[in-house]
Amino acid sequence: MARVGIAGFLHESNSFLRQQTSYEAFSQTSLTRGDELVSRWRTALHELGGMLAGAEEEGFEIVPIYATFAVPSGPIEAATYERIAMELADELQRAMPLGGLLLALHGATVAVSYPDADGEMLRRIREVVGPELPVVVTFDLHANISREMAERSTALIGYQTNPHLDQRERGLDAARLMGRILRGEVRPVQALESPPMLMQNSRQHTAAEPASIIFEKLREVTSWPGIVSASIAMGFPHSDVNEMGAHFVAVADGDDELARKAARTLAAFSWELRDRFAGNLPSVESSVAQARRAERTPVVLLDVGDNVGGGSAANSTVLYQELLRQDVRNGLIVLCDPAGVDVCVWAGVRNAVTVTVGDPPVTVTGRVRTLHDGMFEETQVRHGGWSKNDQGITAVIETAEQHTVVLTSRRMAPFSLEQLMSLGIHPERKRALVVKGVIAPRAAYEPVAAEFILVDTPGATTDNPIHLPYRHRRKPLFPMEPEASY
Ligand SMILES: [Zn+2]
Repeated sequence: MARVGIAGFLHESNSFLRQQTSYEAFSQTSLTRGDELVSRWRTALHELGGMLAGAEEEGFEIVPIYATFAVPSGPIEAATYERIAMELADELQRAMPLGGLLLALHGATVAVSYPDADGEMLRRIREVVGPELPVVVTFDLHANISREMAERSTALIGYQTNPHLDQRERGLDAARLMGRILRGEVRPVQALESPPMLMQNSRQHTAAEPASIIFEKLREVTSWPGIVSASIAMGFPHSDVNEMGAHFVAVADGDDELARKAARTLAAFSWELRDRFAGNLPSVESSVAQARRAERTPVVLLDVGDNVGGGSAANSTVLYQELLRQDVRNGLIVLCDPAGVDVCVWAGVRNAVTVTVGDPPVTVTGRVRTLHDGMFEETQVRHGGWSKNDQGITAVIETAEQHTVVLTSRRMAPFSLEQLMSLGIHPERKRALVVKGVIAPRAAYEPVAAEFILVDTPGATTDNPIHLPYRHRRKPLFPMEPEASY
């Protein structure tokens, strides 16, 4: 029976945030080894869950090694990166000899010390396992794939949906491919093609055009004889690194030329559609006006500039202040504000409270409706596949304008309605829901939303790349340099 290791290191790093990501951000969110890794992830609708299930299906001896992730945030501190890399390598060393390694990476991980933190992690893993061991790597659709990642892995397999609903499937794919490799049925060779183009986050909804068109092409290329796997990384525009942008990966059975042809076909096809992956979103004022007039509610106002899943602070009040300014009633907003939570805890449930929260600061006067431990579990297929969540001690305030203001102690990306329902909130009864994300929250909110509006809000995850002070990206890159050619 083949001994196959399972490991993960996942973080989406936003270079435009000054606050660096600490070891505690990982250890408090999820950091598991050995049997604990299995119990944390076995049933999760996540690639690690898929890898575990697939490994069982393939009859591997499962060797759970080390897996950690943190909520998207700023670049990882140098010392934190060293510590995680060392811990992972130590556990891996202890687990040797292995027949193969299944590894979940993000692909948009940036450490202060290593802009290509995923490629560097693979280099360190190769130092332990050697150049020959099959290492099958899964990556997020928002990956910025480096040449090193492609060279140091046996095969790269990416998510195909945004919101990410196929994570467990891709983990299963990785385990099944490992089975075929270990039985000698395939000899993977892979090609990476990186045309000079950026796809804005707002255009990365895979169920809608233009993204749906290129994923249709992906399915066609994947069905070519001799192609083992193909993937599209749409890129994460908020990592300021050389490889930021869109990438196309193809894995063929022993045929380098075929892999290259498949990757180039996908890249050339997407390049022709490049104009459609760029563009502007509606303003704060017009979006809130639309929510005020809407006949069918709730209207989900997506706060694109304060996208928690893209690393933002989860505290922007821009949309809330506009709701107040236009006298829109019955809205909901979730803000991360631990100090505000303390004030509510001090006041106690049913009592009046006045608290100044968020950025820019806004004074909220109301009544404390709920205080909650902030733990909730998602059992449906939802973006991220995290299943168990902790938003920290949480307070719900009802205001005189019938707004519901939720204050959390930890940043929580809005990937699950349980975030609200666990607090006794009925989101379907609200007029406007301010949701801090772009595409990912759709999976959770589609069952209740009458309408989604992606709003051009300011912040660290602003959609328009023109507003971002890049220093390390490739040049030329479309759309910032329209003359870019491929
Ligand atoms: Zn993603």
